Amino acid sequence: MAQLTNKTVLDRYLRLEIPDQKCQAMYVWVDGSGENLRSKTRTLNFIPKAPEELPIWNFDGSSTGQAEGSNSDVYLHPVALYRDPFRLGNNKLVLCETYKYNKKPTDTNHRYRCTEVMTRAASQHPWFGMEQEYTLLDVDKHPLGWPKNGYPGPQGPYYCGVGASKVYGRDVVEAHYRACLYTGINISGTNAEVMPAQWEFQVGPCEGITMGDDLWMARYLLHRVAEDFGVVVSLDPKPIPGDWNGAGMHTNFSTDAMRNPNGILAIETAIEKLGKVHAAHIRAYDPHGGKDNERRLTGLHETSSIHDFSAGVANRGASIRIPRGVAEEKTGYLEDRRPSSNADPYVVSERLVRTICLDES
Ligand code: ADP
Ligand code: MN
Ligand code: MN
Ligand code: MN
Repeated sequence: MAQLTNKTVLDRYLRLEIPDQKCQAMYVWVDGSGENLRSKTRTLNFIPKAPEELPIWNFDGSSTGQAEGSNSDVYLHPVALYRDPFRLGNNKLVLCETYKYNKKPTDTNHRYRCTEVMTRAASQHPWFGMEQEYTLLDVDKHPLGWPKNGYPGPQGPYYCGVGASKVYGRDVVEAHYRACLYTGINISGTNAEVMPAQWEFQVGPCEGITMGDDLWMARYLLHRVAEDFGVVVSLDPKPIPGDWNGAGMHTNFSTDAMRNPNGILAIETAIEKLGKVHAAHIRAYDPHGGKDNERRLTGLHETSSIHDFSAGVANRGASIRIPRGVAEEKTGYLEDRRPSSNADPYVVSERLVRTICLDES
């Protein structure tokens, strides 16, 4: 589909100066699906330095799956502030939590509970690194660059691939990487994935609540950047059935104890605890209670079976992988390979900390 507007023309207007103390603040929030993001802008008459300085705002929750039409106002509470890589200057992106008319968190406001858990475990300094896998689609929902009436050649040459017949959509990946760095998101890398048009970016290590904040804002940037290129981002964990890799959100995790000498013992204890609550974690590791991951965690394509808990050194077919270097040095972190690409990072990080740091299952 042709571009409806022209980015070069838009750029003329984005370069117009705005008054000194004015700021465009783009409020961003997770909608009622628990997967999709929404955003809207207001003008501020000051340049905010911290989220607490921003006004609480509201929106029509009946249009986002977050309220009934008869009682539709949902509140937006600013919780994290980022530089805006699209509008530049002093303009801001504002990550928000959502609250109902009765001041209770909405059903998909998982940050509220995550914050409480992270506060209680703060002395153990939980660190996370999340690997966000995703698939680029054409606007017709066909994977980007795939032949319209068939499939590309089988998997093999695409992972970390180079060349026009190996990777599709690198422009999106590069633009997104720079946009993340500009905003202050702790992005740590990117790579082309096993299925063509599938990519990954990593965020971390991040401590506590900042993991979920940075990952959600990185997702927002990805959707926005792709929009500029006329490309669609899918976080579906198994976008193409059959012999094609699915998409996950591997979550690397450590505490002070694990990062200390002989931390491998704390890692082994953590794995034992995780094994006892496998089913509960599977229910929490995608937005549909495990249904999405059923299509992905088959035991094939570098996944473990959804029904079994397993762990192993350098084993990409296990639920939990201990990286080779960690086993050798006896200190470091573990990788939980089960979370789905569309999982809520607040839920995943909260679960890991409750189980491993707080013994609350
Ligand atoms: P993989 O080999 O599984 O593809 P990646 O390099 O994609 O691994 O991702 C590894 C992630 O682990 C990165 O996001 C990195 O920030 C994170 N990480 C590294 N050290 C730690 C640690 N001690 N605790 C938590 N996360 C960590
Ligand atoms: Mn990776
Ligand atoms: Mn990967
Ligand atoms: Mn991984």
